[in-house]
Amino acid sequence: MPADSHIVIVGGGVIGSAIASFTLADPAFRGTVTVVERDPTYARASSALSASSIRQQFSTAINVEIGRYGIAFLRRVDDELAVDGVPAAIGLTEPGYLFLATAAGVPVLERNHALQRSLGVDVALLEPNALRQRFPWLATDDLAMGSLGLSGEGWFDGWSLMQAFRRKARSRGARYVEAEAAGFALDGERIAALTLADGSRIGGDLFVNAAGPWAARIAAWAGVPLPVRARRRQVFVFACPAPTPRCPLVIDPSGLWFRPEGAGYLCGLSPDASNDPDDAPLDVDHAAFDDTLWPLLAARVPAFEAVRVTGAWAGYYELNTVDHNGIVGTAAGVANLLLANGFSGHGMQQAPAIGRGVAELIVHGGYRTLDLSPLAFDRFERDAPIVELNVV
Ligand SMILES: Cc1cc2nc3c(=O)[nH]c(=O)nc-3n(C[C@H](O)[C@H](O)[C@H](O)COP(=O)(O)OP(=O)(O)OC[C@H]3O[C@@H](n4cnc5c(N)ncnc54)[C@H](O)[C@@H]3O)c2cc1C
Repeated sequence: MPADSHIVIVGGGVIGSAIASFTLADPAFRGTVTVVERDPTYARASSALSASSIRQQFSTAINVEIGRYGIAFLRRVDDELAVDGVPAAIGLTEPGYLFLATAAGVPVLERNHALQRSLGVDVALLEPNALRQRFPWLATDDLAMGSLGLSGEGWFDGWSLMQAFRRKARSRGARYVEAEAAGFALDGERIAALTLADGSRIGGDLFVNAAGPWAARIAAWAGVPLPVRARRRQVFVFACPAPTPRCPLVIDPSGLWFRPEGAGYLCGLSPDASNDPDDAPLDVDHAAFDDTLWPLLAARVPAFEAVRVTGAWAGYYELNTVDHNGIVGTAAGVANLLLANGFSGHGMQQAPAIGRGVAELIVHGGYRTLDLSPLAFDRFERDAPIVELNVV
């Protein structure tokens, strides 16, 4: 890629903005970056509707490595993304993730633990007694084990992280264009230009798909069959009068998750695959809390018998339906398209590593900091998926 190339990024959420910011930060890059984002309010963007939590406890080495890069970046984000001396405050806190297992889930927890420890993750397996001592508010009768992140896991303000990447990208010269991308003008195996809904075109040397839950549509314009679908996920906000000291982000064996947020809590539960249509409207199904989530909450934390719902929202996971992992890098058959898609509910925490990695592809033609090649699109063509078991 010539140093003075023009990079066109479709989607200005946390992923597109991180890519823009890291690309422009590279001293070897002398080109220009345009980010095409249709909605500067980000009303339906996943980055605005995220639970914005970060963990190291994954089942695949690549996701663990990305998590380690991510937490290191977030710890120094104030400086990394400061603009005109104003720090990028994102309110990172690290109370950990706690994955709970019944006897049936212990082998998976132990296997993940061995992988995580081999990669230097600060994580501990706790027997029910140790769980009760640390978290006396937790019901442990049916549990056989818990896996607790002792550092490097927690949550932050995702909206602030996205805005910080966007501000930093703009301060480095990125041009954000408010427009709906509508197609690619192709020239053989190359993309010559991005077509906008008003019929105008933006020419470029390299195009990046960072369109979140809508990424499959953009890829299809170039003939790339991207297995990414928009799947609705709900978050409920609740208050509880009884305290739960040192509460981490808890993942129940049922799949229910909850964590503190300010004076209250957030919680959610992914639906069964049989009840998870593409592109469901982003309306909240309020009955789901009473019917499904509340009983699970109260069974795990008896004090949650007395909760009061104070809010709720729904957003889209950009679900990679094949193996629940990011799809990053080139796509066969198109010479100048890069993908940064399919993060399946962990794209907020992965934005620093993905932003950096894609910037390295753009500027240097290969990864330099962290090798993201396991996430390449060609794994589908080789029928070699990287299945992530820990999808929350
Ligand atoms: C309820 C929920 C909870 C989550 N919890 C976590 C969590 O705890 N931790 C975590 O790491 N991740 C979490 N995620 C996932 C995370 O938020 C996403 O992976 C991440 O925000 C994806 O960022 P993105 O920039 O790819 O997508 P988005 O933020 O959706 O940005 C894509 C942008 O592309 C734009 N766009 C799309 N098509 C076009 C077009 N044709 N023309 C112009 N613009 C276009 C959209 O307007 C949008 O702004 C959660 C997501 C949800 C919904």
